Amino acid sequence: MSVIVRFAPSPTGKLHVGNVRTALLNYLFVREQGGKFILRIDDTDLERSTKAYEEGIQADLSWLGMNWDSTFNQSDKFAIYDSAADRLREAGLLYACYETADELDKQRKLLRVAGKPPVYDRSALALTDAQKKAYEDEGRSPHWRFKLSGNVVTWNDMVRGEQSIDTSSLSDPVLIRGDGSYLYTLPSVVDDIDAEITHVIRGEDHVTNSGAQIEIFRALSDHLPNFAHTPLLVGKDGKGLSKRLGSLSIEQLREDGLEPLAVCSLLGKIGTSDPVEIRGSMEQLSSEFAFSKIGRAPARFDEDELMLLNGKLLNETEYKDVKDRLEAFGVGGGEEFWNLIRANITKLSDAVSWSVMAFAPMTGQIDPQDLEYCQLAADSLPDELDAESWSKWTAFLKETTGRKGKSLFMPLRLALTGRARGPEMNKMLLVLGAEKARARLKGQAG
Ligand code: GLU
Repeated sequence: MSVIVRFAPSPTGKLHVGNVRTALLNYLFVREQGGKFILRIDDTDLERSTKAYEEGIQADLSWLGMNWDSTFNQSDKFAIYDSAADRLREAGLLYACYETADELDKQRKLLRVAGKPPVYDRSALALTDAQKKAYEDEGRSPHWRFKLSGNVVTWNDMVRGEQSIDTSSLSDPVLIRGDGSYLYTLPSVVDDIDAEITHVIRGEDHVTNSGAQIEIFRALSDHLPNFAHTPLLVGKDGKGLSKRLGSLSIEQLREDGLEPLAVCSLLGKIGTSDPVEIRGSMEQLSSEFAFSKIGRAPARFDEDELMLLNGKLLNETEYKDVKDRLEAFGVGGGEEFWNLIRANITKLSDAVSWSVMAFAPMTGQIDPQDLEYCQLAADSLPDELDAESWSKWTAFLKETTGRKGKSLFMPLRLALTGRARGPEMNKMLLVLGAEKARARLKGQAG
């Protein structure tokens, strides 16, 4: 059996770290199995779905290195969903309901007050044709519910183990709204049958759905995929993702200049028994993938950890692999400069400020009270600089002026770089060279 999986985002917003992790787990699994990865665009909600979001999702997945083997839109398949709905109607499993949202709300409140679970009472099942007609004459159009069996549905989840959902504790799910539009539940099952999906890998917020969906699978076909429901992401404190992190988009990470492999290494490893470490390629990540490694506890997403991994990845990155991007940023200095700065940057874009500082003519900042000190520093700087120059030079200045700590170093840093924080000065001095450094220490453009 060849493996076929799908990632099924709704193009009603941008991909964020949570849903892209679902994409990644699908991707790593299927590549490890040598199967097929389908990108399914869940755009049955025509009002809220946009082409721009759809294109954004594709751009994000491509950037992350998750290439799909085929893609399709649910909005092209309404005729197929209609015929599946007809089959369910004929089997007596899809029934028309006429309650308004207010009426349903009232029903639920009454049940709650009576201490009962707010499960739909199925009164629509008892409606006669005349009663239905009367509702329709009144201007109501029916919504359609799937008739659950009332039995316990079980499956062996690839992450959660034996699962059972008692469908008698669920409301019959609405599959089609009063305006004729489809909710997610039925189209997803129809497509999973059609595309012969072998593994449905998604977040554990879908576990209850699976109970109802498995009954719909059985009503329509002999095909039933395996299920894997993965724990959701939480913040580093173990609580739910903050609003900001929960909506942290992949586009944002891309614009921030993060490395796709750092994002995939983190999202592919958190919540698993593997250490969270940078991985050299998607192939490596997928060769290490196993459902058995995914724990039941939520996966902790920590932005600082992402930055750390990103920095580590850059530190290991060869000049030839970033050359084009550095050039696009306008960063010169070649391989030597890259090797000098790569250990000290968190994001590739950080190279820009190093480059500006190092190569563009600029005047540093000199406090009037440090003028004399900086002049002395300029005069005592040797013409030939090497790896020892910074420590020898500052030791000399310390001894001569009696300055130490911040008052010794900060005026030099400000004069040479114009900033109070930044590159390691011993290396920076080498990049600047004696002539530039001297000019800047004298308050001139260098
Ligand atoms: N569009 C659904 C979602 O984003 C897909 C869920 C599924 O994978 O079945 O929640």
